[in-house]
Amino acid sequence: MIRPGAGRGRGWPLGGAALVLAFVALGLGVRTGGQSAPESTDAQVRYTVSVPEPAHRWMAVELQVDGLGADPLSLRMSSASPGRYARHDFAKNIFMVEARSGAGDPLEAVRTLPTRWDIAGHDGSVVFSYRIFGDRIDGTYLAVDRTHAHLNMPASLIWPAGHETGLIQVRFVPPAGESWRVATQLFPTDDPLTFTAPNVAYLLDSPAEFSGFVDRTFEVSDPSDPTYRPQFRVAVHHGGSEADVDRYADDVERIVREMVAVFGEFPRFETGRYTFIADYLPTAGGDAMEHRNSTVLSAPAALRTQGRQLLGSVSHEFFHVWNVERIRPRSLEPFDFERVNPSGELWLAEGYTNYYGALTLQRAGLAPLSATLGRFSRAIETVRLGPGRQFRSAVEMSRLAPFTDAATSIDPTNWDNLFISYYTWGETLGLGLDLLLRVRSADAAGADAVTLDDYMRLLWRRFGLPGGSTPGAVDRPYTMADARVALAELTDASFADEYFDRYVEGHEVIDYGPLLERAGVAVVSTAPDQAWLGDPALRFERGGAQVTRPTAFGSPLYVAGLDQDDVIVSIDDREVSSAGRWRDTRGRLLPGRSVSLTYARGGAVHTTRVTPAPHPGQRLVAFEELGRTLTPTQLAFRDAWLGSQL
Ligand SMILES: [Zn+2]
Repeated sequence: MIRPGAGRGRGWPLGGAALVLAFVALGLGVRTGGQSAPESTDAQVRYTVSVPEPAHRWMAVELQVDGLGADPLSLRMSSASPGRYARHDFAKNIFMVEARSGAGDPLEAVRTLPTRWDIAGHDGSVVFSYRIFGDRIDGTYLAVDRTHAHLNMPASLIWPAGHETGLIQVRFVPPAGESWRVATQLFPTDDPLTFTAPNVAYLLDSPAEFSGFVDRTFEVSDPSDPTYRPQFRVAVHHGGSEADVDRYADDVERIVREMVAVFGEFPRFETGRYTFIADYLPTAGGDAMEHRNSTVLSAPAALRTQGRQLLGSVSHEFFHVWNVERIRPRSLEPFDFERVNPSGELWLAEGYTNYYGALTLQRAGLAPLSATLGRFSRAIETVRLGPGRQFRSAVEMSRLAPFTDAATSIDPTNWDNLFISYYTWGETLGLGLDLLLRVRSADAAGADAVTLDDYMRLLWRRFGLPGGSTPGAVDRPYTMADARVALAELTDASFADEYFDRYVEGHEVIDYGPLLERAGVAVVSTAPDQAWLGDPALRFERGGAQVTRPTAFGSPLYVAGLDQDDVIVSIDDREVSSAGRWRDTRGRLLPGRSVSLTYARGGAVHTTRVTPAPHPGQRLVAFEELGRTLTPTQLAFRDAWLGSQL
């Protein structure tokens, strides 16, 4: 049943008249009262996607646009893809462009921009066809080969400007002799190879795997409404066995069940279904991309031997169902396919998602405690020791995404010193806030601690649950100020201000030691007696050790004036021309004791002094690993945090 605007009209029916009713109810119908309901064939924008020669890695696309006025038709190829924050020029792979009128007469398609073709003089209809090359299997690009066509839509389909809100039809044509099927979040029709999208934004957000994949489906009851049972489809293109897929689908289901407990309910999936599209192939790139009602997961891995390692991205992407896809920063809504959307909120959108990705694997029994603590250790160390923290906050790091998120450039950067991933920094902010909340409220309220789960639920009810006026849209995206106000409501204004001012918009690191102690986890030094020079990147050669990347800002070598391309000849009169000699020399240094350092630069040899620092490394270790016993209070705290919520 459809209850538009009611916030909680559940389960969009699949296909046929009910689907049509949904479009009409939401003002999307191409025809209104008294006329027959729209079929997918009533769409004025229709694509035919075919793969006549898959071995040659191109796909043919025919786009027919009907019902045009007198103006020229302007077609656009995207330069950005939802979930990917950098610019990607997908138009570069288009070739063999041809345009015809509805009557079949040739038309001139003028390439007015690298990403734009304009077509004038049509008869109300334009048929635009092109081929497009694609050879990267991941969540961002197009890949075509003998086994499949793997489509990320912005990298595949050109779209008509001015027709963003009408019904769209997409028909897939397999290679001769192949019985490929389609896994996608597009709306199904009676024809298994024909789909619809209610608007261009939804179309471009709907990846498709077109192949002989193996699939499994399962249903999970909504915790707050058992009559709502969304379906989950796991479609795997791989070289393994059916049993591998069975095991994987079981693990995916465990993640789904554990994660929905955080929010207490599923969103309305517009087609009644959520699809996991997984390509685990030797030729695949490692990637994972969230979409409204689906995700694309890819890795050069095999389910049989590496299945559990692949669950981290499943867990991360499924959390995006709520956080990003529906609890969405205003900076990402609406998504601009022709430019990029800079966002200062990715520490929350991606970082908290990273935290819940790891937390859910732990809660669901899919990762051992040592692995979870090891991961949190590495994240905290990256932020605590990252030189970039001195220069930019987590918010400012988020805004660098267009330059760092799989962006390409040929001039060197100094990200080692100037960038810390908002995924990593945000993960530590999520971990820290969860612990700060638990410790704070456990003091006052004992077992019924307020947690990060409560904060996420508050954001969900306020910004995610209200939904959108059209499928795929988010009518109430949040701002930084909204996120701060919500935290203040859950706690108080001074707590929220301190968290945001010091750790999110400031440069400080949360003091994890006392917080983790409550869960029976210790922070210990990794090399308490070792001297530290700054972990330089080195290439060993006959004359010494060449520094191959910028030295860490503020490290002993940086302070001594050493930087990229310098060749360290000796330290404290000991040569360092091999990895073994470097380790041996470093091992003899004492923190705080200045020694001589000889280096070559531009053909001349210089000598200076360097003062090693105490090794700053730390890691998280469970008390029991250190032979310590947890108190009942620590055990209860740990179980409430890391135990299953089911
Ligand atoms: Zn993500």
